[in-house]
Order: sequence, then C-alpha cells, then structure tokens
Amino acid sequence: MQALKQWPDARGRFGEFGGRFVPETLHAALTQLEEQYRAVAQDEEFQAELRSELKDFSGRPTPLTRATRLEKAWGGPRIWLKREDLNHTGSHKLNNCLGQVLLARRLGKKRIIAETGAGQHGVATATVCARYGLPCVVYMGAEDVRRQALNVYRMRLLGAEVRPVESGAKTLKDATNEAMRDWVATVDSTHYIIGSVVGPHPFPMMVRDFQSVIGEEVKEQLGRLPDRVIACVGGGSNAAGIFYPFVEDESVKLVGVEAGGLSSEIGEHCRSLSAGSPGILHGARTYLLQTEGQVSATHSLSAGLDYPGVGPEHSFWKDSGRVIYESVGDKDAIKAFQEVARCEGIIAALESSHAYAWASQNAGKFPDEKDWVICSSGRGDKDVAEVERLTEEVNS
Ligand SMILES: *Cc1c(COP(=O)(O)O)cnc(C)c1O
Repeated sequence: MQALKQWPDARGRFGEFGGRFVPETLHAALTQLEEQYRAVAQDEEFQAELRSELKDFSGRPTPLTRATRLEKAWGGPRIWLKREDLNHTGSHKLNNCLGQVLLARRLGKKRIIAETGAGQHGVATATVCARYGLPCVVYMGAEDVRRQALNVYRMRLLGAEVRPVESGAKTLKDATNEAMRDWVATVDSTHYIIGSVVGPHPFPMMVRDFQSVIGEEVKEQLGRLPDRVIACVGGGSNAAGIFYPFVEDESVKLVGVEAGGLSSEIGEHCRSLSAGSPGILHGARTYLLQTEGQVSATHSLSAGLDYPGVGPEHSFWKDSGRVIYESVGDKDAIKAFQEVARCEGIIAALESSHAYAWASQNAGKFPDEKDWVICSSGRGDKDVAEVERLTEEVNS
C-alpha cells in the first residue's frame, strides 16, 4: 500500500477514484499541465515567487487564534481557529488562484476562465487576473447570479466578464459544465482555474498542494500535533488543504463536515460522501449524489457547499477510513454562525459554520482530547443578509 501522501498514482488515481474522464481534445492539455505542474513543484524560483505573493498580496500566514469563550461554552478541548477568513478576498480560495495564475503564465496562456457558485472563487480568480493583467471569463449559474449580486458586481469591478449559465438548475454544476465546454474549444490559449479539488487529473492534486499551505502553517503555529482537525467540505479544497499535511500523522483525527441541508431526503442536502455513491462527475470518478444515473438536485443554505460531487481524494480517504465525514443541517449551521459571532467576535462564512457546528455538538464527548483545530475557511459578510432573512422567517 502506497503511503497516504504519495497519491495520486501515475494515472491520476486515488485508489479507484480520480482519473481523467474527459473529451479527447483535452488529453494533451492536461498532460502538458501535469508536466509543467510537476516541474514548478520542484522549482525554487516558482515556489519563492508564490510564497512572496501569498505573503505580500494575500497576507499569509493567517493567524491561528485560540477561542477561549467557545471552549467555555462547549466544555471540551482547547479550540484553535485557522483564520482563512483573514486572507485577501476573505477566504482560502486565493491560495489556489495565486498558484494557478503563476502556473498559467509559465504555460504561456493568455486567457483565464473559471466557474463559480457563490462567487467566492470567481472573485478570487478575477482578483489574480487583475493583478496579472489577464482577461478573465467567469461562468456562473443564472440563479446564482441573481442570489449573489454583490459578488457579480465585484467581479465586474475587477474587470472580469461574468457569463450567466441558463442550463439545468442554473447553479454551480451547470456553470462547471459550461466552463469545461469553453475550455475544450479554447485550450490552446486558455487556462481553466478550477476552484476546488475536483475535475480531471492533475487538478485535484494541484489544488490540494496549493491549499496545503493551510495545514503546514497550522503544524508550525501549534508546535505540536492537534488531536483533531475539523473542516467543512463542499468540493473539499479547504479541508484537503488543512488535512493533507496531517494524513500520515496517525494520532490526528480528521473530520470533514458536509452540508446536511433541510433533511436526509434526496434533493434536500449535499452529503456526497455520507449519502452518495461512486460515479463520474466533471472528469473524475468520485462519490456523488445520483439517482438512476442522473446527478441529483442538492440543497444547502450555504452556496459554497451546494455541489453534488466532491474531490476524488476525499472519496479515497473516506473508503480508507483515514477521514470521517459527518454532516450538519442548515438550522445548526445558523446557530453556530450566531454563536461564533457572539462568543469570539468573528462573523464566519455559513460554509465554515458547518465545521463550527459539528465541533460545538461534539466537543463535550471527547474529554481526553486536548487540542482541536477548526478551519475557519472564510468570512461571513456575504451571508449576513441571508441569515437575517432566514431568522426573521423563523421568528415571525
Ligand atoms: C468555496 C468555499 C468553501 C467550499 O469549498 P471547498 O472547496 O470545499 O473548500 C468553503 N468555505 C468558504 C468560505 C468558501 O468560500
């Protein structure tokens, strides 16, 4: 058995997951991307440039904040928050976009495309394109364009073109299909910055590596191994980034928290790992939500977790038992959103609130554990109006 950190294999597989299920026209581009990526991963000059951008443009390292009032409220281990909300643009997304835009420049690509759901990845991509003077097209479901008007305006302000996608449910899955279609037609001139650890090889590996700065910093900042690391899982990039540096430290328990939505009825949640089955989505074999071969509808109040698939490495970690995947519903995420704001003075993203909620419900059950780290993947300013609307509905 290959060591956990050495995956994927030469074919881009994580055990039975991952791979490259794409039209013939993309094979050459993906092979070239993989070769270039493997080269820059070893290249000191590239890594130094990336480190410098992470520091001086994004503001890394992000702090590891001790949350003493949450500790009191929850009655369990010490609680440490990895503050990805303090990155430039307000989430972990920029870690990946900076890595990929530097790579695109090495590849000589003159145009960037991306998909986005809530708009966080779109904003991060538009941001790096502005910084490097590259034209940028962001595909976004028409329904999300309507729901996330502020992020649409941000992207336009940054000089990106936002293309609303009218097919399917008009959300993230449909935007991803459309971005893939664009890439097939334009691959010679264009780099596709995928926003999570999903898609065909080498994207899941590459995005994981660019996000691993999160877990590497935690290791250094804590100075000892934590007992448990908890992160929310949409596509799985903030979770992969904080988990990966710990996967071979057997004493560290890793918990991924999916969006439980409204109920366990199909169509009312996004529990790809805890309720899905293996299939192929967006170029990779992975766990996904499907009924009779059709990708299912999904629901979460948090747009960043609202995706029917998940990164293939998470599927592998699930089956190997290395990571446990749990879920938290909409209501409990809102409760955690409010609790973290009041106790710690941090308005966290609704996505991150799923990780907080699991920790809040479970901290008291592990009296022997000393240090827990929660990945606070983003800030919640974007969610304030939605939470106000939802809690008023409840109160009226
Ligand atoms: C996009 C996003 C997520 C979900 O994406 P992952 O790839 O699962 O990390 C989580 N939190 C925040 C703040 C996001 O913007």
